[in-house]
Amino acid sequence: MEIKSILKKNNFKFNKNFGQNFLTDVTLLKDIADDGGADSNSEILEIGPGAGTLTEQLCKKSKKVLAYEIDASLKPVLNNLYYDNLEIVFKDIMKTELSEIESKLSKGYKIIANIPYYITTPIITKFLASNASSITVTVQKEVAKRLCAAEKEADYGAISVAIALYGNAFITRIIPAEKFYPVPKVDSAVVRIDLIKNKYACDYEKVRKTVKAAFCMRRKTLVNNLISAFGLSKNRAEEILTDCGIDIKSRGEELSVEKFILLSDKIF
Ligand code: SAH
Repeated sequence: MEIKSILKKNNFKFNKNFGQNFLTDVTLLKDIADDGGADSNSEILEIGPGAGTLTEQLCKKSKKVLAYEIDASLKPVLNNLYYDNLEIVFKDIMKTELSEIESKLSKGYKIIANIPYYITTPIITKFLASNASSITVTVQKEVAKRLCAAEKEADYGAISVAIALYGNAFITRIIPAEKFYPVPKVDSAVVRIDLIKNKYACDYEKVRKTVKAAFCMRRKTLVNNLISAFGLSKNRAEEILTDCGIDIKSRGEELSVEKFILLSDKIF
């Protein structure tokens, strides 16, 4: 049966607050599952199964699928999926402890999801230091560029650095807005982040604090952001930058991950 009629039959009403835009093109859904590396050995975490269209392809390709859905009104729709390797939990992913989620999965599980866009950054951030081996998510195209940007590129920001600290991100495909139901205003893209455990020998918490401070006020220079975030004197802030070989007029967006690590070391 077509997804629209299934939703109608189950009296489903779209909830704008939950970022509900569903994908129905089976070829595309299979491609997304492949982009995320779904195969017979893999355990998959899906966030926001919606009507279960991607879920179904994931179940066919992988060993196990664990899906978290906030909207209990999708229960009757998702009950139509009969797969032995599927577990659906009706819970807000952001209010669920990582340890609780990971107690149901083996290390190296893969995240594959067409996620709700209103929590793109929180979702990615939640799983950067997780036991997952990769995060493959559909996001707005403009956001996708930010996730994958390198230093000095216009889209580079705190989230680009955070991702680069934990892994490597790249766009696997663009998805035109018309592929979704209902049709959103903007195009989307699939981004895959391959996570690398201990990619850098650094104190991750401290580096993330430094990154947050550097991008706190985008139009301010790094020196001014460091002064307000860490209560440093102007002289001390300039001295630290000079020690790191960073121009004192620099802004956060000019610094590579490696420079952020060096800078964090000097600050703390
Ligand atoms: N993956 C589906 C649906 C994408 S829409 C598809 O591709 O068709 C996003 C889905 O995320 C919706 O089903 C929405 O109800 C769900 N969702 C929104 N916020 C959530 C949260 N905090 N935790 C879990 N699921 C959430």
